[in-house]
Amino acid sequence: MRAAGFGYSGAVKSWRCLQCGWVNPDDAVACADCDKPKPKAKTKRPPPSFRPWRVVVLALDPANRSGWAVWSMGRYVESGECRIYSNPGLDAVKRACESAASLARMAKCPWVVCAEVSWGGRMAVGPSQALGAWRYAVRSAGLPMRRVVEVFPSTWRARVLGGGLHAAKRDVVRKAEVVAASDIAGRTCGGDEAPAVLIGKWGCQAGEVGAVLPERMQKTV
Ligand SMILES: [Zn+2]
Repeated sequence: MRAAGFGYSGAVKSWRCLQCGWVNPDDAVACADCDKPKPKAKTKRPPPSFRPWRVVVLALDPANRSGWAVWSMGRYVESGECRIYSNPGLDAVKRACESAASLARMAKCPWVVCAEVSWGGRMAVGPSQALGAWRYAVRSAGLPMRRVVEVFPSTWRARVLGGGLHAAKRDVVRKAEVVAASDIAGRTCGGDEAPAVLIGKWGCQAGEVGAVLPERMQKTV
């Protein structure tokens, strides 16, 4: 039910310029008075959980050379990287998905996929063949597509790497990723594996992961 008096303002949408206070029609891309562009609507992010979710996370950095990592109940399990355009690569993709699914079966908890989306390619409708290979394997392992969480690099980096690194130069960030991931894995991680390890760490407590779980499964460790 709508609050009294909301009907009219709801029907005629408008936005108020943050610079000069001018009220503009909703379809105006810039303020009619001062030309300042319309502020973008902030997407509400569910807050992270204080404790890891009771969930198995398969984290992906899908590319021709894909990184993957499996985390369970907030703990690192395994990770690797593989070339999608090869039979061993496709086997590795399949095995990673089955590994996550079977861990979840044993722990009697759900599993989710956290996939990085970096070049505007989405896991669900991605133009990239690499995404297609992962998507196929994920579906074959029986995961509903609504359990696929897409994350932008800036989002997971801000939480896992912190320290303003998300704004640093690419190779500086890459190095920091390898150091942080190797520390978790207890061995030197590859450059494509490292982001996946860290995306997994992010996913274990991400509000976005909790949001795709059915309410009765939104439990923490
Ligand atoms: Zn204005």
